[in-house]
Amino acid sequence: MLDDIEEKVINNERLTPEDADFLYHHPNPLDLAALADTVRRRKNPDPVVTYNVGRNINYTNICWVKCSFCNFYAAPGDEGGYVLPEQQIFDKIDELIAVGGDFEDGSELLLQGGLNPKLKIEYFEKLFQAIVRRYPQAYLHALSATEILYIAHISQLTIEETLIRLRKAGLQSIPGAGAEILSDRVRDEIAYRKDTTEEWLEVHETAHQLGMNTTATMMYGSLETISERIQHLTHIRDVQDRAMSRGGRFTAFITWSFQPDGTELAESRWKGPKATGMEYLRNAAISRVYLDNIQNIQASYVTQGAKIAQVSLAYGVNDFGSTMMEENVVSAAGTMHLMPLTEIQRLIREAGYEPKRRNTRYELVS
Ligand code: SF4
Repeated sequence: MLDDIEEKVINNERLTPEDADFLYHHPNPLDLAALADTVRRRKNPDPVVTYNVGRNINYTNICWVKCSFCNFYAAPGDEGGYVLPEQQIFDKIDELIAVGGDFEDGSELLLQGGLNPKLKIEYFEKLFQAIVRRYPQAYLHALSATEILYIAHISQLTIEETLIRLRKAGLQSIPGAGAEILSDRVRDEIAYRKDTTEEWLEVHETAHQLGMNTTATMMYGSLETISERIQHLTHIRDVQDRAMSRGGRFTAFITWSFQPDGTELAESRWKGPKATGMEYLRNAAISRVYLDNIQNIQASYVTQGAKIAQVSLAYGVNDFGSTMMEENVVSAAGTMHLMPLTEIQRLIREAGYEPKRRNTRYELVS
């Protein structure tokens, strides 16, 4: 069976869910690396690994959804809940500029937060407009599908109306957070108040129809089966097939493992074990070969650490993600691997690739 899959990969033929299942159970990870590298070299032939100089800003941690795998949120009314004042958001943007962020050179602002019942669409319109007024070149990569659905709901708007208004205010593309595993069985178990698979996909499809790019993610290692991981990848691949005739698309796919420390899920139904580095590499490689219509596979050094992220460059990964500067979500579950740009560049170079800076559209910049 491996020979058949190899032949398909070499001939650029699409893999079936059964092929993916075989690869998930195949004992030799080096075979997976070879397959993933074949696809990586076809899709991105230059010996280059890209990165973005950008900043993550979590504008609020207040969230009523209380996902059992999340340690980041504060429930409405809880001590410790915050909404960042506008000036503090500006200060964070100024910190990005002070360390070499340059919006003319494609630096990205990633704004994400909880589902805060007090923040309707007017809050985001005002915030985005204020950022764009002060930093006219700023690229706003902001708000997961989950946030957009909730903003639409409490503002009594459709998804399309919400996206059109947010885009008019300055939103340019949408990050892929909130996907976890796109299976309603798993979503009901780990985050039953959250959006459904269909709703999450609908936000991305609507954005693509409006000409906006988005990214896609997968958080594995909670309560899902291998077949549910493959179902997740198939959903992403199907949406991307339809996006090909539209203006927007998924620009990248990023996978990471459930970070259990201190989470309600780890203290209740999840029995472990914690996903290993090799499992991450397996997921990255299978994503690379199965998602034949997605150009970029991004490393998750924040969750996997520098060394595994570096090794993932041999498992189909061609992008190192963003410098981030700040991370509050997985760090709340005990994981935190931020690093300076020079270290990202060194890791890429020592893996045999040339580090190159890119913008959020994955275009190389100076
Ligand atoms: S993962 Fe997102 S939606 Fe879920 S509790 Fe955390 S902040 Fe809220």
